[in-house]
Amino acid sequence: MKRTIVRTGTKSYPVIVHEALLEFDSLPEQLLGDDGRCIVITDENIAELHLSHFEKKLRSIGLKPKVLTIAPGETSKNSRQMLNLAQEMVWQEARRNTPVIALGGGVVGDLAGLVASLYLRGVPFVQVPTTLLAQVDSSIGGKTGIDLPEGKNLLGTFWHPEAVWTWVGFLKTLPAKQVREGLSECLKYGYIMDPAILERSTLIDPKNPLAEGNEIMELIHLCVESKARIVGQDVTDKGKRQFLYFGHRFGHAIEAIAGYKGITHGEAVAIGMTYESLIAESLGIATTGMTADIKERLRTLGLPYAMPRGITVEMLVEGCKRDKKRTGEGIRFALVRQPGQCVLEEIDPSKLLKILRSIG
Ligand code: ADP
Ligand code: ZN
Repeated sequence: MKRTIVRTGTKSYPVIVHEALLEFDSLPEQLLGDDGRCIVITDENIAELHLSHFEKKLRSIGLKPKVLTIAPGETSKNSRQMLNLAQEMVWQEARRNTPVIALGGGVVGDLAGLVASLYLRGVPFVQVPTTLLAQVDSSIGGKTGIDLPEGKNLLGTFWHPEAVWTWVGFLKTLPAKQVREGLSECLKYGYIMDPAILERSTLIDPKNPLAEGNEIMELIHLCVESKARIVGQDVTDKGKRQFLYFGHRFGHAIEAIAGYKGITHGEAVAIGMTYESLIAESLGIATTGMTADIKERLRTLGLPYAMPRGITVEMLVEGCKRDKKRTGEGIRFALVRQPGQCVLEEIDPSKLLKILRSIG
């Protein structure tokens, strides 16, 4: 078992990475406040694969779960679904001290977190992430959200969980494509914060992430430590937290241009890291050889690094300009000098276009 404390301005909470599901000596008392009653929110796929085991374990530690199930996939992150869940909680007589437990990937975590933050102006919340992406990234940091027809994650809150309970065993049933997505984010932490993560990421077999025994647990733990360090220093996304955008400035643009079809978030981030590193090299910020190193690691893991056919440099720059996190005139990038060292750099769109054209 590995434990990391995430410290935010207002509260601290543990992220526990287990080799066994829910093995605790004691539970935080906020979770037992309503006689152990709790609401579990999950999706149909995870319910089918893991719910009976999970419910049994919850009962064994003194919790009495009521389960609410949503359809899997990003389309569930909408206002209708959010209101349905809130109404179901009323029907279940959930009170201010009834915790919400999110059992699932990023979709379940974002949606359940938002509902937990709004229901009766906020109830206790626990994240139980079941995808590698959620385990190393979205379950930590307190971001919640749903999509609007106008764009992704346009409505959301910061709502920190009481705890994050990560069990590596969930990964046994996760398709390789989704393991790769998570590994792409692991590489991101390696480049922006902790080079030790790089070697460990490429040791994992996406088809069988548990094959190397404790390796995956160690890897998740190191990523959690990196993310905890970053969000602990910058709780609301204004400074250092932007290091986490490495690969994401272009990544988000690529996903949006592709209409969120045919390319996963992790794949778009992989290509984003490659091209952002090319930018950093041509500005003389990155040591030469950075991009080659990134490509080699992505190739080992079976992740893409070339720009998808049909996406031109003009489309890419336009996509960056539309990014909702943009504030000023320039486009802000998190660029890596060398593994473990990151800087924020504002680049003028016309200059960016010029550099991208020269890269070809
Ligand atoms: P993320 O945003 O973390 O990638 P999602 O919530 O979009 O995750 O989940 C992606 C898909 O994977 C969904 O269809 C979900 O039901 C499924 N899923 C989540 N966890 C597991 C798991 N441990 N095993 C198999 N499928 C899973
Ligand atoms: Zn990401």
